[in-house]
Amino acid sequence: MRRPLIAGNWKMNLDLARGRDLVAGVRAGLGSADVGTQVEVAVCPPTIYLFPIAEALQGSLIRLGAQDLYYEASGAYTGEVSATMVAETGAKYTIIGHSERRHTIGHLEDDRMLNLKLKAAHQAGLAPILCVGETIDERRAEQTLDVLTFQLTAALVGYGVTSPDDLVLAYEPVWAIGTGEVATPEQAQEAHAHLRNRLRELAGPIADEVRILYGGSVKPDNTAAIMKQPDVDGGLIGGASLKPDSFVRIITATLATLG
Ligand code: PEP
Repeated sequence: MRRPLIAGNWKMNLDLARGRDLVAGVRAGLGSADVGTQVEVAVCPPTIYLFPIAEALQGSLIRLGAQDLYYEASGAYTGEVSATMVAETGAKYTIIGHSERRHTIGHLEDDRMLNLKLKAAHQAGLAPILCVGETIDERRAEQTLDVLTFQLTAALVGYGVTSPDDLVLAYEPVWAIGTGEVATPEQAQEAHAHLRNRLRELAGPIADEVRILYGGSVKPDNTAAIMKQPDVDGGLIGGASLKPDSFVRIITATLATLG
C-alpha cells in the first residue's frame, strides 16, 4: 500500500512571516488528522526559507522539501545551492524538473541536467520528486505517453531505484499548472499507469511502491476524484497550498478517499 504524499510547492510566494503563519495555520487546521501515518504532508518553501520553516515545523510530522538544487557538490556556481546544503536544512524532499524550470526560468533545464540533479539529491540523502509532463501542443499531437516515457527514461539513466524513497514521481501536465484547467481523472490515471508500467520496465517491481503524484490545478473540490484513481498517490499542489484552509481541505479530502 502506497501512503499518499501531499506536497505544497510555494514557488516564489509569501514572505517569511506569511510562510510561518501558513505553517501554523496548516498545523492548527490538521489538528489530530492522521498526518504522517495515513497521508504524508510536505511543504516546499523558497530555498532561503528552508531553515526558518524547518524551525516552524518542529514537533510536527509535516515534512520539509526544497523546490530545486544544483547538481555539483561545490565550486564556482554563483547563486546555486548544492544537495548537501539542502539536506543540512533538515529537508526530506526536493522537487526536481518542475515544468517552470524546464520551460520558463533558470537554466531551461534539460533531461541530462535533471538526471544529474536526481543523482546529487540521492547522494545527499534527499528523496527527489521528479516532475514530468507534456505541453498542450504535445497532448494535441497525441505525444503525451511518448513524452512521459522519454522524460522518465532520460532522468533515470544510471540511477537505481531500489527503495520507495529513491524516487517520487509527479505527473504535471504543463497545460494544467496554474491555469485552473485540471486533467480529468481518466487522463491522470492513464498517464500515471503508463509511468508505473515504464518504471516497472526500468526498475522492476519496486515500481509498485513508488508514489506518483498528480499536479496541476488541484483544488479542494477536485481532489477526491483525482486521488481515487488507483495509480494516483497524492498531489503536488501549487496555488492551493498557499492558504491553510485549501491545503488542509486537500489533505483531508485525500484522507477521506482512503476509507
Ligand atoms: C505546481 O506548482 O506544481 C502546481 C501544480 O501548481 P498549481 O497547483 O497552482 O497548478
